Amino acid sequence: MKTRVRFAPSPTGFLHIGGARTALFNWLYARHTGGTFVLRIEDTDVARNSQEAVNVILNGLRWLGLDWDEGPISGDATGPSKGDYGPYFQSQRKENYQRRVEALLSHGLAYEDQGAIKFKMSREPIVIPDLVVGEVRRELTDREQADPDFVIVRSDGQPVFHLVNVVDDLEMNITHVIRGEDHLSNTAKHIALFRAFGVEPPRYAHIPLILNSDGTKMSKRDKGASLTSYMEEGYAPEAVLNYLCLLGWSPKNNREKLSLSEVVEMFDLPQILRHNARFDLTKLTWLNGEYLREMDTERFYELAVQALGRAGLDTTRYPVEYVKAALDTCKGKFKLFSELPAYGGFYFKDEVQYDPEAAKRDFTPENRPRLARLRDALSRLEPFEPDPIGHTLKAVAQELGVKPAVLVHPTRLACCGNTAGPSLYHLLAVLGKTRVLQRLDKALAVIG
Ligand code: GLU
Repeated sequence: MKTRVRFAPSPTGFLHIGGARTALFNWLYARHTGGTFVLRIEDTDVARNSQEAVNVILNGLRWLGLDWDEGPISGDATGPSKGDYGPYFQSQRKENYQRRVEALLSHGLAYEDQGAIKFKMSREPIVIPDLVVGEVRRELTDREQADPDFVIVRSDGQPVFHLVNVVDDLEMNITHVIRGEDHLSNTAKHIALFRAFGVEPPRYAHIPLILNSDGTKMSKRDKGASLTSYMEEGYAPEAVLNYLCLLGWSPKNNREKLSLSEVVEMFDLPQILRHNARFDLTKLTWLNGEYLREMDTERFYELAVQALGRAGLDTTRYPVEYVKAALDTCKGKFKLFSELPAYGGFYFKDEVQYDPEAAKRDFTPENRPRLARLRDALSRLEPFEPDPIGHTLKAVAQELGVKPAVLVHPTRLACCGNTAGPSLYHLLAVLGKTRVLQRLDKALAVIG
């Protein structure tokens, strides 16, 4: 039988890192087995639904590259090619639930109670043969023993999570339910519902939760809990994906940097770890730095341009060759793309803002004539390339009887606005003579 798995998020306006990992494990299992990965939006809670909340999920999955394989054709799709599929929405499947509830009612497996509809829960203990957790035997709690039945349709007509989740898994022929361990407590109800519909339940694999590094439960407010924060802070999706693979799953050889195709090859449910995973932002950031360093140049440009764009720096105003040369001086120098605007943003500004502390230290009256001498020498320099720029600066320093650093600091400040950044001679060469002279002139005017 072909594997069919699904990711079934509720649109809360937030994609938790744990949800992203659930999506990833389902996707990996589908790809590993050559099966199908279904995306189903569990949007029966009408009050909370919005298109934006759905978009948070779709954008997050797209950013990670977790493509889904089927669903109603959306938009003006010209054919059922990848990407034309919308996800399934529970809000569009109301009739299916109604039909199923009527079937339960007519078989005496559900009944009306004060306007709501309740399911007649099995009185026997239910055994869950979980692929990760092992065999779990669910005894009824005292309260459940008194009344194990539960509501499947509220008195306002709204079908309840347990019902719609099971009906969909059943009708979508889901073979494996891979989801967070927080749902283990619902599973006995789900198995009982499957049996009431006369169908054997799917295999279950409940994945342990992700905890904060101090072992506490990760909540919405914890740093790093939202996938969106990684998108905004300029993590590379491939690094986040790699890190998520290691959260609760471990390849036998203990390697850390793994390509997605390697993971697809190796991934299997029995290797999912049974203990809770601890989220380690430092490790993820380290891994991101590794990815950035080894990233192929075109991909680096692509992500760098996006990060600059998010910071309001429009690189399209500059020739492509200039953009690439500028970014080449920044590659490998930072761990997160969110550091790039501060590090190399000066390439893409008409005017730089000076760091006030540095300006106090380096834009001094004694430095003014020195900077003017350097400006003069650079204006006559041809070709304007790193080595000759370096020789010129050192020669001017020697003539003035000062160390090169005395010229390096105010020059960097004049051209970049701060005191840290790419190698000075290289960045001056990339900026080009015209911009460098303009920026030195402006600094000279500021020093007065
Ligand atoms: N909508 C449920 C959730 O967001 C899905 C549970 C499941 O995967 O079965 O947690």
